[in-house]
Amino acid sequence: MTGTTHIIGAGLAGLSCAIRLCDKGKKVALYEAARLAGGRARSYFDATLGLTIDNGNHLLLSGNHAALDYARRLNTSEGLIGPETCAFDFMDLATGARWRLRPNDSQLPWWVFFNDRRVPGTQPLDYLDAAKLLFAKRNATIGETMRCQGPLYEKLWRPVMLSALNTEPPEASAALAGAILRETLAAGGRACRPLVAKKGLGEVFVEPALHKLAQQAITPKFGARLKEIVFAENRVTQLRFAGEEISVGAQDNVVFAAPAWAAEELIPKLQAPNDHRAILNVHFKLTPPKDQPLLLGLVHGLSEWLFAFEDRLSVTISGADRLMETPREVLASQVWLEVSRAIGRDISTTHDLASDLPPWQIVKEKRATFAATPAQDARRPDAKTAWENLFLAGDWTATGLPATIEGTIRSGYRAADLVSESV
Ligand SMILES: Cc1cc2nc3c(=O)[nH]c(=O)nc-3n(C[C@H](O)[C@H](O)[C@H](O)COP(=O)(O)OP(=O)(O)OC[C@H]3O[C@@H](n4cnc5c(N)ncnc54)[C@H](O)[C@@H]3O)c2cc1C
Repeated sequence: MTGTTHIIGAGLAGLSCAIRLCDKGKKVALYEAARLAGGRARSYFDATLGLTIDNGNHLLLSGNHAALDYARRLNTSEGLIGPETCAFDFMDLATGARWRLRPNDSQLPWWVFFNDRRVPGTQPLDYLDAAKLLFAKRNATIGETMRCQGPLYEKLWRPVMLSALNTEPPEASAALAGAILRETLAAGGRACRPLVAKKGLGEVFVEPALHKLAQQAITPKFGARLKEIVFAENRVTQLRFAGEEISVGAQDNVVFAAPAWAAEELIPKLQAPNDHRAILNVHFKLTPPKDQPLLLGLVHGLSEWLFAFEDRLSVTISGADRLMETPREVLASQVWLEVSRAIGRDISTTHDLASDLPPWQIVKEKRATFAATPAQDARRPDAKTAWENLFLAGDWTATGLPATIEGTIRSGYRAADLVSESV
């Protein structure tokens, strides 16, 4: 093949597409509007903390086959750490109760019969209700499909589904929740081991990809925002960036891997998700206590997941649109109060909370993911378009999964495969 594949966007969809094409010996050119790669999964140096942090804490699971395949291609699988077997630690911020969820490895879920493996205050039969998600219709919400109240919902399904879908479960798509369930808990504990990029997303998913591409003389053009796509008959013939026009030859293909809102703007008659949800992360610079779990689920508070990195504790709050206007200092104090309790450092009687705060940073991602409602899911386009040399990639395309790294990388791979098949 002599043609070049022009990839728009160097987020994980664009990068994984580029890597897959390069592995197949194809020619690639990559264009990125920002000054760095990684998009919504990027690492950067934060001057306030004096640390390299991720824009958001990202959780992967051992059943994320595409994400793990991509890390293997980059030789960075070891950068993803987690417990040897499936275990999720939780704490109830209202009562101080702690528990550990321990699904067994195999698909036969005998763990629900053991008090010390399941959620406290629940019975084995309670867990059956969520199985309805596996057979849910595309237009059904979780609220219409299963019970969205009670201890099991509050202490397991809500936190898990809210973080996976970034949408309050009652309004979220039951089919998308079912897809997650099918590939994780229903596949057994061995598919559910939590995995975290210990030194950040950049070191596992982004920098090594750029390095691998550079070895094949491919350097992304940064600061290259696509402004217009020129079409003639059933093909893309030109890409217009500010100050540069790229001709798309008869052998060339284009993979559009920029976000949904850019796609709707640049691709005629394309329907894509147009409602998004925010995610908020609060980072505290301090060394976590030695016995602090890598990941701690927090219920009945503002904080949802507490990640313990070597040099910081970071809290994730999903579906955080309601908090976008809350003053940063207020958020930092409130979250710090909860984190202090979670790490066994009760400061509720401290008079001057502000002086107790370690250095902190808040990162707000307003359009973190599309809202995982049935209506938005129905707007997700296939990777193939009406133009024979234009393909789509990104977490917002019809991957069958919510907006996750796993869905993103599958979309990058699929676009690469479609390009390969088209020549
Ligand atoms: C805070 C946060 C927490 C998250 N947590 C998790 C998690 O725990 N687990 C998980 O699996 N997923 C998580 N996600 C979701 C995951 O990060 C995304 O699904 C994934 O990064 C999307 O990648 P993408 O390549 O599709 O899009 P993007 O990362 O948005 O990449 C698109 C790229 O295109 C560029 N671009 C935009 N417009 C143009 C243009 N006109 N021309 C050229 N380039 C353009 C952008 O700058 C960007 O770099 C989280 C997301 C956020 C924001």
